[in-house]
Amino acid sequence: MTTSATHSVPAFVGNAKHNLIGGRWVPAASGETIDVVNPATGGTLGSIAAGGAADVDAAVAAARAAFEGEWSRWTPHQRRSLILRVHDLVLENFEELATIETLDMGAPLTRTRGLREWTSQVLQFFASQVDAGTAATPPNSLPGDFLTLRYREPVGVVGGIIPWNGPLIGLWWIFGPALATGCTAVLKPAEDASLSVLRVAELLTEAGVPDGVVNVVTGYGKDAGAALAEHPGVDRIAFTGSVGTAQTIVRASAGNMKRLQLELGGKSPDIVFADADLDLAVPGAAMGVYTNSGQVCVAGTRIFVQRSIHDEFVSRMAEFTKTIRVGDGLDPNSQLGPLISQRQLDRVLNYIDIGSGEAELVSGGKRLDGDRASGFFVEPTVFASATNEMTIAKEEIFGPVATVIPFDDMEEALRLANATPYGLAGGVWTRDLGTAHKVSRGINAGTVWVNCYGILDPSVGFGGTKMSGYGWKGGREHVESYLYPKAVYMNLG
Ligand code: NAD
Repeated sequence: MTTSATHSVPAFVGNAKHNLIGGRWVPAASGETIDVVNPATGGTLGSIAAGGAADVDAAVAAARAAFEGEWSRWTPHQRRSLILRVHDLVLENFEELATIETLDMGAPLTRTRGLREWTSQVLQFFASQVDAGTAATPPNSLPGDFLTLRYREPVGVVGGIIPWNGPLIGLWWIFGPALATGCTAVLKPAEDASLSVLRVAELLTEAGVPDGVVNVVTGYGKDAGAALAEHPGVDRIAFTGSVGTAQTIVRASAGNMKRLQLELGGKSPDIVFADADLDLAVPGAAMGVYTNSGQVCVAGTRIFVQRSIHDEFVSRMAEFTKTIRVGDGLDPNSQLGPLISQRQLDRVLNYIDIGSGEAELVSGGKRLDGDRASGFFVEPTVFASATNEMTIAKEEIFGPVATVIPFDDMEEALRLANATPYGLAGGVWTRDLGTAHKVSRGINAGTVWVNCYGILDPSVGFGGTKMSGYGWKGGREHVESYLYPKAVYMNLG
């Protein structure tokens, strides 16, 4: 485990940050701010604007004006060139962005630096999608002499509300399709992690994104987030976060029938069969839970292990878990950083407490002390011999806590895997092709990984079913959800 970190702090961090509205950086109308806390130390890094309804109003007005202005006449070619300029500038500045993200939300540099390649892929993907609105001529089955055109028009102003667990990923799911389709956006990042979004917004402006096309309002969910969700000038909401907040947003959006895309939590099953290659499956399933300190919506937190290998798997997983280095994300040796906040730390420790009374605690289970006591660090933790009915197997913990549950056969594994209100992701580890096919089809979830976990191709995308939400992020479907179809019938007779 790491002990200390020495890494230069970017000049961007440390000043009071404002909102980006209509191309101008402005403080919250109320003048209020929110302290930015470094989760690795508990220290204050600076402040962001505590935006509210007035700021959201101004940002939506700026986004509407931009949507109806010059931006609406940009050609697909111009939008593609713009996204590629953004791509180059963001990649050029990626070391700074990765450091800001690490300081702000705790993920180690090994992870945030690793997002560079993914960011390149995601921006190139959206650059390739600028033709999604191009008119098509569907087959004509009408009597008479008609020409029918099918257009796809940009839906308008998009409100994005994202969580703190990966702002450098989450922002592109809003800005990418908005820039590709000619929509405009108002993004409300999470109050616990807004800095990297604000730095990217500076880069977007520098790359030539016109004023008002992209706006950022920081602030609390109950203020800025709620104002965006109910604003009559917003045409679409893209939300990632908790189920409870999503339900509030669904109700708030009814006023003007906003289009919605909701990506929520999960309690994803990861199923290990007795014939699996354990050299792959043990670290693969373990990191499927621990990555980003377990603060990942697709985390495979329920690990179902075939009974004949349960004990061996658990002892190897406990051994692997003890080798993981937890520490300040700025230390290049750290593999896992802290949790985002005191609130999340308390929540995760409470679940560990509950789990200790339900299942067998085989590794971890404690908050880190010593020189890491001021940060929000918790040990990666394994519970074994658990059942699917236990609290730790039912509720999303959002921390590095794995629950290992034994099963006897494929039928039981699938029944248990699907006995959850969620349906975001799942995994299967086996050497048998038939098992791989049957189980990957049998898991009710938007993404299933076979002999791997957590891989995401932006041109394919991902999404959920059941209480994990609806709408698809990435792929052509995502871009098309920023457009509405329109038919034009021309009588040529
Ligand atoms: P949250 O849903 O409260 O916050 C997500 C975003 O929604 C933030 O930007 C927040 O400010 C905003 N928000 C909060 N209340 C709002 C409201 N009434 N109207 C509009 N926007 C609002 O989630 P959280 O508090 O950050 O985390 C709580 C739990 O949510 C986690 O423990 C985890 O279970 C889940 N979560 C899931 C994901 C995911 O990627 N699926 C990410 C973060 C959190």
